[in-house]
Amino acid sequence: MTTAHAVDTFDSLNPATDEVIGTFPVHTADQVEEAVARAKDAAAWWAGLGFSGRADRLAAWKGILARRLTELCKLVSEETGKPTGDAQLESVLAIEHLAWATKNAHRVLGRKRRSPGLLLANQAASVEYQPLGVVGVIGPWNYPVHTPLGSVSYALAAGNAVVFKPSEYTPAVGTWLVDAFAEVVPEYPVLQLVTGFGPTGAALSHAEVDKIAFTGSAATGRKIMTAAAKRLTPVVIEAGGKDPVLVDEDADLDAAAEATVWGAFSNAGQTCAGVERVYAHERVYDEFLAKVVALTEQVEPGQDYGPMTMPSQLAIVRRHIADALARGGRALVGGEGAVGDRYVRPTVLVDVPEDSEAVREETFGPTVTIAKVADMDEAVEKANDSAYGLGSTVFSRRRGMELARRLRTGQTAINAPFSFVGIASLPFGGVGESGFGRIHGEEGLREFARPKAIARQRFTAPLALTSFARSAKTEALVGKLISRLHGRR
Ligand code: ADP
Repeated sequence: MTTAHAVDTFDSLNPATDEVIGTFPVHTADQVEEAVARAKDAAAWWAGLGFSGRADRLAAWKGILARRLTELCKLVSEETGKPTGDAQLESVLAIEHLAWATKNAHRVLGRKRRSPGLLLANQAASVEYQPLGVVGVIGPWNYPVHTPLGSVSYALAAGNAVVFKPSEYTPAVGTWLVDAFAEVVPEYPVLQLVTGFGPTGAALSHAEVDKIAFTGSAATGRKIMTAAAKRLTPVVIEAGGKDPVLVDEDADLDAAAEATVWGAFSNAGQTCAGVERVYAHERVYDEFLAKVVALTEQVEPGQDYGPMTMPSQLAIVRRHIADALARGGRALVGGEGAVGDRYVRPTVLVDVPEDSEAVREETFGPTVTIAKVADMDEAVEKANDSAYGLGSTVFSRRRGMELARRLRTGQTAINAPFSFVGIASLPFGGVGESGFGRIHGEEGLREFARPKAIARQRFTAPLALTSFARSAKTEALVGKLISRLHGRR
């Protein structure tokens, strides 16, 4: 967007070195409203391209992301502090999702016939999913490519224009993505960027957008819903999690330990669907724990994961560890002193009371609590005793499906970590404090579209029901027909 009258700016820093990555405008409420106004024209033009016209452009955007992957990953790594391999992982997944949304939008959202039913058999019924118009996307910093594109790609494929507000910690990555899009869609600002802090995001949630897709904390999600309520603007909220892993007595313990260590510590634990709690069957608890400890001892901050991207998170991680230890918990790796100025050493906590902060609140750091359970019923009960319900993982040879279905979370992976995130056809979203609405998959496309129902009369009905000329005979006939059809029991 034009930044001619933006007065304030802010710097984005490399969290490992404090080096300035770039300087960005703090967009005002007026500027956000102007962007939304421009997006309305862009939305009409973009919708007019139809599914195949949009698919061409989205495929070209995808091509740029894939060809310039190294450049993108370097920027993600510099701005978040994560290793380039992790930057690549999130970017690759984002490209897969973009490809899926592009390829499937027509099939999922295009016009489909529906049965008109017996009483209205003279009608042809159909439903199509039309674009909403302008979607505001407010993004987080922990996965600055994968997470916002989980909304942006699906919203664009569904025919909407998007005004995207990246996190104040990752504006450079946001700019890169939007600039790449403008190369393939130069005609209209179909995907625009607004940058700034909370108030810029708040301005977007007050603006005349047709939907808001938010990823961030539940507390900010609440504020956004409150703002959106003024215009009855619908919202999709992807908030945090306190994701559990269940380890059954017949589990592959090596795989379960590996998944726990990766799930808890990769990206320095700054993952909404990262592993925060483990409930392991008492018959395998000791052996599993020994494997987790051995693997954790090999994890090196600064090499396997980066610094905390957001410095204010350090105090929260420190508080959760201190609370766990003060209340009888023990740190088998890390613990007191694990939290440094930028980096946090991986921390494995056991014997932590279930009502402590480390078990109940989202830590968003490289820590994990591991608890022993008598059986998998207790594991399910404890896993579900949480305000959050984003992801979960089950390691079990025989009961994986059964346990997965009983977990109160939006998605569950069985015998592998995070697999649901990479499967583009699966919806992703939360329960409770983890939010609501779904991104990804068919549900993610429909989230950014409005069902339009059309009933077209093909011939005059033999029974005229919607007319003042309706006769007593017709009414009697319909009454009989219905009791025949539905009144048998
Ligand atoms: P996190 O703690 O993960 O950074 P936040 O919920 O604070 O999560 O921020 C996520 C996104 O929401 C960021 O882009 C941030 O600028 C934006 N944001 C913060 N406060 C508000 C608000 N009141 N209204 C709208 N967006 C906001």
